Amino acid sequence: MKNSFHGRTIATISATGQPKYHEGFAPLFPGISYAEFNNEEELEAVLGDDTAILMIEPVQGEGGIRPAEKAFLKKARALCDEKKIVLIFDEVQCGMGRSGKVFAYENYDVVPDIVSLAKGLGAGYAVGAIIANEEVSQGFVPGTHATTFGGNPIATTAANVVLTALTEEGVLDNVNEASAYLVEGLNKLKNKYDKIIDVRGLGLLLAIELKEPVGPIIMKALDKGLMLINSGTHVIRFVPALTVSKTEIDEMLLILDALLTDF
Ligand SMILES: *Cc1c(COP(=O)(O)O)cnc(C)c1O
Repeated sequence: MKNSFHGRTIATISATGQPKYHEGFAPLFPGISYAEFNNEEELEAVLGDDTAILMIEPVQGEGGIRPAEKAFLKKARALCDEKKIVLIFDEVQCGMGRSGKVFAYENYDVVPDIVSLAKGLGAGYAVGAIIANEEVSQGFVPGTHATTFGGNPIATTAANVVLTALTEEGVLDNVNEASAYLVEGLNKLKNKYDKIIDVRGLGLLLAIELKEPVGPIIMKALDKGLMLINSGTHVIRFVPALTVSKTEIDEMLLILDALLTDF
């Protein structure tokens, strides 16, 4: 998709639909077309008879925290079924509980053929994974591909601990409660400040869009002990730990409120 982000290997930089990430990495992996996110007509237009793969982030992370529309992902699934295209959801950022479900696609009733995972998968420990359905996984047997440290016991144990915490130890419930609480707080700020033009996201992958560049606010927040991150120039992204408490959210909102007054 245009505005997507898929990573820093040459293939995934190439798949990333933002020219700024391509700079300095030519030659890119060939044969990739991009469609506008959430635009069903453009999507249909780029999928040809020779298309092998369609890759989408259910929530665009680096592209400004933009959730897909349900109709868009349903259309993507239908087109892939019709044209025998493998549908990949890149859930590296929005997966592993971040969206309020283990997988972001569960919010959409659309099941991809392949899901990529990393970031939250190891909760700080470096590990990534791909999951494929039975049919597609036939194309990838032992020996097809490998990585030196793939499947190592420490990384896979970390991922197992995270999955258990999410599904059996209440972390996913906390994501949903904390999300509702944080959205309410951000909406209050939006009502208070004209310069906030949007509050959006899913679960604990949330954002506010401002009329002005957010860099100075983020720098100033650091001085107050608050680590924020932008997503593009005008968006502040909120991706707290999935175990975040209401007290911590209150503290964050107080600091942010003061900064928005100052700027
Ligand atoms: C972070 C991220 C990746 C991986 O990025 P690397 O820089 O290669 O670690 C892939 N996809 C999405 C959606 C991401 O947010």
